[in-house]
Amino acid sequence: MLQKTFNITSLVRPHILSLKPYTSARDEYSGKNGTFLDANENPFGSVNGEAFNRYPDPLQKAVKQKLAAIKKVNPAQIFLGNGSDEAIDLLFRAFCEPQKDKVLTLPPTYGMYQVSAAINQVEVVEVPLTASFQLDTNAIFSFLEREKAVKVIFICSPNNPTGNQLDLVAIENVLYHFNGLVVVDEAYIDFAMYPSLIKLLDRFPNLVVLQTFSKAWGMAALRMGMAFTHPEIIHILNKIKPPYNISQLTQEKVLAALDSDTKRAEKVKILIALRQDLAANLKALPIIKKVYPSDANFLLIKVDNAKQMYNALIQKLVIVRDRSSVKLCDNCLRITVGTKEENSKLIAAINEVSQ
Ligand SMILES: *Cc1c(COP(=O)(O)O)cnc(C)c1O
Repeated sequence: MLQKTFNITSLVRPHILSLKPYTSARDEYSGKNGTFLDANENPFGSVNGEAFNRYPDPLQKAVKQKLAAIKKVNPAQIFLGNGSDEAIDLLFRAFCEPQKDKVLTLPPTYGMYQVSAAINQVEVVEVPLTASFQLDTNAIFSFLEREKAVKVIFICSPNNPTGNQLDLVAIENVLYHFNGLVVVDEAYIDFAMYPSLIKLLDRFPNLVVLQTFSKAWGMAALRMGMAFTHPEIIHILNKIKPPYNISQLTQEKVLAALDSDTKRAEKVKILIALRQDLAANLKALPIIKKVYPSDANFLLIKVDNAKQMYNALIQKLVIVRDRSSVKLCDNCLRITVGTKEENSKLIAAINEVSQ
């Protein structure tokens, strides 16, 4: 089996390598017992009667320990962020020199990579997916041959907004041949047939797998994202993150939720069945030109006039996402799989507006 050797340190921005991170009170003394007069906390508890007066664990060790067992990784391979979006931003800040380094995205894809790049003054270069929304590996490799400033490649699989899983062999090929970071965003992996690329972490030190509690776990409001990668990269991310980036409340709720992994799996199973029903019902509607195959909890559909359909559905208080301005997604709408009742409402509304 191919095993990549790779120098992570050479990729990190030099001033980040030499950065002396902020050390919080909880970093300097991490014991559990004692009289804690070191963090200027309120000794009386919280005004709402609860116990949120103490700062949370900056490294979320309890959550990571439980999560590591579920994901079959070492806790040192886990970074937890205030949503995956925080991990994406930190990767830019750690590895991409503004106005010099570049990142490669494969449109149509998740919009946050572009926004995060713009915030960090990092240029995004693009190699579009093929017509069937797969990696165009030849195009990617010939592009990288010419463009040496690319530090990070963002691959979203299952891809948002197209919904499909990207070819595993193609991703592995990119991981092996590209001497930069390959970020595989698996926000929707629970809904897919293929296993997570987490299993490749030991072979590819340049792999960063992003997952989230926002979708399959149903905890979007708590804001917790995960990055699984080489401990050296985790160390860099920990160095530059805000010290207390995950609140005590979020840590507690996620820790408890991790005991309900079977419940997550049950919900996923139901959602996949609902997705199949919804896809079949949408395909039966003459106004819908195409329902794209999905490995996620949403469906991409093509209609004759997406803007018109989107606005007509809003009039019926059914809100979908207009993706028609996205590359390769002309006249496409993205529809989240809802409950049985919600999906029926959508179908009824499309029927009404297409009379
Ligand atoms: C929803 C989604 C996320 C999750 O972002 P959070 O900040 O964790 O809520 C990440 N990536 C993609 C592609 C998504 O669609």
